[in-house]
Amino acid sequence: MERSYDHVAIEERWMKEWIGQKYWAAPTFPEGDKRYTVTMYPYPSGDMHMGHVEIFSIHDTIARYYRMQGFDVLNPIGFDSFGLPAENAAIQRGIDPKEWTYKNIDTLFSSAQRLGCSFDWDRKFATSDPEYYKWNQYFFLKFYERGLAYKKAAPANWCPNDKTVLANEQVVNGRCERCGAEVTKRYLAQWFFKVTDYADRLLDDLELNTGWTDRLKQLQTNWIGRSYGAEVEFDIDGDGSITVFTTRPDTLWGATFFVMAPEHPFAEELVVGTGKESELATFRDEVAKLTEIDRTSTERPKRGMFIGRHAINPVNDEKIQIWVADYVLMDYGTGAIMAVPAHDERDFDFARTYDLPIRVVIQPPDRELDEATMTEAYVGPGTMVNSDRFDGTSVEESVARVIDWLESEGRGKRAKNFRIRDWLISRQRYWGTPIPIVFCDDCGEVPIPYEELPLVLPENVDFNPTGEESPLATAHEWVKAPCPRCGKPARRETDTMDTFVDSSWYFHRYTDPFNDEMPFDPAKSNAWMPIDQYSGGIEHAVLHLIYARFFQKVFVDMGLAKDPEPFPALLNQGLITMGGKRMSKSRGNIVEPQEAFERFGADALRLFMLFSGPPEANFDWPEEGVDAIGPSAHEWLKRVWRLCEDNRDVVDIGELHADPADEALRRYLHRTIKIVTEDYEAFSFNTAIARLHELVNQAFRYRSVGGGNPQVMRELIEALLKMLAPMAPYLAEEQWRRLGYDTSIHFSTWPTYDPNLAIEDEVTMVVQVNGKVRDTLQVPADISEDEMTTRALASEKVQAHLGDKDPKKVIVKPPKLVSLVS
Ligand SMILES: [Zn+2]
Ligand SMILES: [Zn+2]
Repeated sequence: MERSYDHVAIEERWMKEWIGQKYWAAPTFPEGDKRYTVTMYPYPSGDMHMGHVEIFSIHDTIARYYRMQGFDVLNPIGFDSFGLPAENAAIQRGIDPKEWTYKNIDTLFSSAQRLGCSFDWDRKFATSDPEYYKWNQYFFLKFYERGLAYKKAAPANWCPNDKTVLANEQVVNGRCERCGAEVTKRYLAQWFFKVTDYADRLLDDLELNTGWTDRLKQLQTNWIGRSYGAEVEFDIDGDGSITVFTTRPDTLWGATFFVMAPEHPFAEELVVGTGKESELATFRDEVAKLTEIDRTSTERPKRGMFIGRHAINPVNDEKIQIWVADYVLMDYGTGAIMAVPAHDERDFDFARTYDLPIRVVIQPPDRELDEATMTEAYVGPGTMVNSDRFDGTSVEESVARVIDWLESEGRGKRAKNFRIRDWLISRQRYWGTPIPIVFCDDCGEVPIPYEELPLVLPENVDFNPTGEESPLATAHEWVKAPCPRCGKPARRETDTMDTFVDSSWYFHRYTDPFNDEMPFDPAKSNAWMPIDQYSGGIEHAVLHLIYARFFQKVFVDMGLAKDPEPFPALLNQGLITMGGKRMSKSRGNIVEPQEAFERFGADALRLFMLFSGPPEANFDWPEEGVDAIGPSAHEWLKRVWRLCEDNRDVVDIGELHADPADEALRRYLHRTIKIVTEDYEAFSFNTAIARLHELVNQAFRYRSVGGGNPQVMRELIEALLKMLAPMAPYLAEEQWRRLGYDTSIHFSTWPTYDPNLAIEDEVTMVVQVNGKVRDTLQVPADISEDEMTTRALASEKVQAHLGDKDPKKVIVKPPKLVSLVS
């Protein structure tokens, strides 16, 4: 047997064995307690990069740890293979996206295997497989039947560079999330999923996600953006009415003008006959060039025009001017607002710019506002004034009282509003799921019958975007289809689906990946769901993580799922940079996993990654690049290797517990097991590794002073290998087998500790108050000063002598004395 650490040979051997013998295959139904672990499936846009290595290393360590804890673990992998990255790359290289995508899948797949990931490889699928996207089409039709899929003409975010429509979530600070180009607006007839029907549940159920960070919950809460208030109807003089939503109905008496979005269709109707028609058209075109961020910014000067018509304020019958202004958006609320300049910042700026009337209707408690001299809106609390019967009402009750009155008078009603919009799923791109709808001149839009699914994406299509039409429109033969209802010649829909449709339910498919009768068997899915540990990037906080929750809730309503939330625990890994910048080939600040595998091994790479810091923290890779893995990870693994090799055959027989050195090492080992287990539970792998470093040091020290009790060494090495196994699975497996085991370490049980041995060395800590001993406490010998103070102050006896006052002075002499002066 090779005595030196030949990582290439070892990793090669065990990779083949694990995969060939299907070590990580999960049962169809979990038999005992289960853990369903999912990492967000990758885009196959090239070979594995360090971002994959990071999340796979973290995720795989968790899955392997759960297996050793005795759980049935389902840990699958698939590929998010439709979408822009694949298509853009294919366009640049002039090759077919399918060919390119599936080649990348193979490469990424074997790299993940090389990294030692314990995925259930046989369950893998790619979302561009017709066997998968067939079910996207199935769900589209189900949603359509339930009124959750609809087509409407809408202003769409348009990326002039990618020549495609973007969802709101793909627009970041007015720019395309993918390419950074400035986003413009366009009107197109497009498909939507009615996420807004589920807005309340999406918000209310957030609290069920106990394993989410507060930050993530806050991001989603803000994105959903629920607000309460009233809907109030304003009559237009002789020409219908407009409803507005306001969170401040108590300021209705201060509404001194009315504002609509310039693109509001009603504005176009109202302006007819006023002589301002062309002025409005010009203004509307100018506003269309602005981004949503510009329009809603409080910094930028606001622009607008009076359209020559008036509205009637329903609370006081006042006739107020109707304006259009760039700061009012069509798709928020009803696209129209009542302007209350005295108490709204943007209305105030607008009123000052155009010299419009301002009326104070809320007076603050500490001063008197004067419209003539105000320099900004007052948005704080106060008392209602200039508001008829409500004068004198305090702000605490004003909103509720005004709404009650509006309802009793039939002038308005209680309402809530959401910031979240329906999900625009149409894409004018080739590489996606075709939408299963046919347009017939006689019958209108007609769903394709279920038995004709999948509607397969045609090949050899010119998919270079032209900007005007979907690439599928150029596949003339494919577009022609008989109407499923009347049989006459008709046209297929040529938009494809947003890839976030694919990723909204893939984790259900893993539980039943080969089903061709239904998307998945709910019995199988319900047996594994919800996902016990989900991992992936925080950049999905409001994209994927909202859409997948929406799908889950629809599944519950369809009887396909039982859990209201699909992934109640989520880990977001940090960002990897080098020199403070994202790793990228063009910057040249990249470390190739393949080079790391060859020179140092997958185990060393994984260990290096896990040791770099807590999983959520960002990590700046050292400038020496791949070489950095050597000293900190590879050299240490060689040390572990040597410890195992040198002590496997120790023959001198000592007596257990006879020697104080044996006893001390065993105590150290059991404390290590306790602490490392706690670290694993908290996913604190870097501190676990640090502790294992120290354990190995202790073992070498023990040997160097003549310790050699084979039972003690055997106990230590077995526990060490087990604690290392989830992080460095190859070395652990090899040394485990060399110990004589013929079954895998990865199915052995996690080491347990003897509480009597794991107990920390304790000392007696004395607590004095004003010089008198008031309590004595047993504390760990290595207790910190802060912890001493905390424990002293927590003592009831001490509290009795301190009263409810904080001590004036605290003197700490570790570890035996805390002296408090009151
Ligand atoms: Zn773009
Ligand atoms: Zn028809």
